[in-house]
Amino acid sequence: MGELLYSCQGVDFHYPLGELSVHALKSIDLTIEEKEFVALAGPSGSGKTTLLNLLGLVEPLKIGEIAMENYRFQTLGERELNRIRRFHIGFIFQNFHLNNALTAYENVEYFLFRQNIPRQQRAQRVQQALELVGLKGKESHRPLELSGGQKQRVAIARALAKEPKVIIADEPTASLDQDTGREIMEILRRLNKEQGVTVILASHDTMVLESVERVIRLVDGRVVA
Ligand code: ADP
Ligand code: MG
Repeated sequence: MGELLYSCQGVDFHYPLGELSVHALKSIDLTIEEKEFVALAGPSGSGKTTLLNLLGLVEPLKIGEIAMENYRFQTLGERELNRIRRFHIGFIFQNFHLNNALTAYENVEYFLFRQNIPRQQRAQRVQQALELVGLKGKESHRPLELSGGQKQRVAIARALAKEPKVIIADEPTASLDQDTGREIMEILRRLNKEQGVTVILASHDTMVLESVERVIRLVDGRVVA
């Protein structure tokens, strides 16, 4: 048994929707260990994105408990949550969220400014991250000069350069062709094995689900196995 990274208890989530609300997560209990390579699976609308957003501090937790190591999200203020976001979580959004005005290099460097990493160390980390995802030589390209797969690599490098405890990726292959998707999964797998970073992703792609160690299945906002 490895060390526990995440533990969730009784996590519920409602989206307000006019007079009604959508009950997106229902009483989620789960644990994820350090260095795991795990996927959330389930049909569209089953709550995968919502759960990733709560784990990644993209959405505020309102009901239930989520702990990352000793950080209990429900007890922390915005300042502390920001620090966790900034240092410990590398989030990869479904549509990349790259800044089109910045080069690949600058996109990766961006979060390191916010971590106050000194210049020289920053340069080293950016180069290393770009190399690890196979983007050496593309440093000065802007997102519009990159393919979908290359943009996804920039997004992975940006997450990785933070040296986070966890990389969270929402449907990392959804906007890519099959071969490119496979390459992206190999990169994530390698980062998990060689750098020891925990990877949590959401997908309904069979290729993705076959390449992870554990699948957590969601149906209608509940964990089913
Ligand atoms: P998945 O990622 O598995 O497709 P989501 O977490 O995106 O599922 O959505 C779970 C449920 O919450 C769905 O019923 C979806 O329609 C609803 N939902 C998601 N985002 C919103 C939103 N911003 N406002 C209202 N309902 C939402
Ligand atoms: Mg989703």
